[in-house]
Amino acid sequence: MFALTPGQPVQIAEGVWRLLALNPGMMSGPGTNTYLIRYLDGLIVLDPGPEDPRHVINIEVAAQQLSLPVKKILVTHTHRDHSPAAHALHAQTGAPLCGPGTIDDNLQDERWHPHEQLADGDKIELGHSTLTVISTPGHVGNHLCYLLESEGMLFSGDHLINGSTVVIAPPSGSMSAYLKSLEKLLPFDIHVIAPGHGDLIHQPKQAVEQTISHRLKREHKVRTALSERPNSSASELVKVVYDDTPAFLHPIAEFSLLAHLIKLCEDGVAVVENSRYTLTESA
Ligand SMILES: [Zn+2]
Repeated sequence: MFALTPGQPVQIAEGVWRLLALNPGMMSGPGTNTYLIRYLDGLIVLDPGPEDPRHVINIEVAAQQLSLPVKKILVTHTHRDHSPAAHALHAQTGAPLCGPGTIDDNLQDERWHPHEQLADGDKIELGHSTLTVISTPGHVGNHLCYLLESEGMLFSGDHLINGSTVVIAPPSGSMSAYLKSLEKLLPFDIHVIAPGHGDLIHQPKQAVEQTISHRLKREHKVRTALSERPNSSASELVKVVYDDTPAFLHPIAEFSLLAHLIKLCEDGVAVVENSRYTLTESA
């Protein structure tokens, strides 16, 4: 059962707790999930969440209740609903910040500079298990997932979330990279996904495959729209390609549409001139 009560830690596996932040909304669903993971004689805090002193206090109270001090702060990516609380938590606990490097695109937590930068394949020894770093660019260029080996539990950040698809906002978001990073997960031994937003995802392989097929269907719809309407802009195409999405969401959908259009250009299927897209002759 997904606890919708922010601030109350819910144990989701041996040595793993989830703590919901107080930021429900259109882009964040029920809010950001912060995960507490037992690490040696303390805790890792994974995705400490948005800049919100109430949530930082909730994390500290939960750590006290568990009698496990915060020893490390880890993030999946540096969007403002995931990493900014790291700074206050670091100031309170001295725990180092670990995670991806910095990228610059106006959507980021600009204060993020990790003490320890992690890369694909890095391993964090927890004592009772291992966390393996899986680089998953797509939602944003510096996105990382973490696999808790003993449980087969993937902390997926915003690579996969429960309840909706994620926005891919260029230039740091890339649809080509996103699809590759979804396929990259398939060989891993993943039993359950603990996403950045929403409840656990219990059929991970199916969720990954469905997400790939959903994105490819959308790409097909973009190609069809372009074949009927050459020389169209993204804002003209969004009404057609996202006719299954309420109009008030079209400004957000336009980011992902742009990511699809850029991919089609990269694939040689479309060309762009003055921000207007047309299929190539051979497409
Ligand atoms: Zn998020």
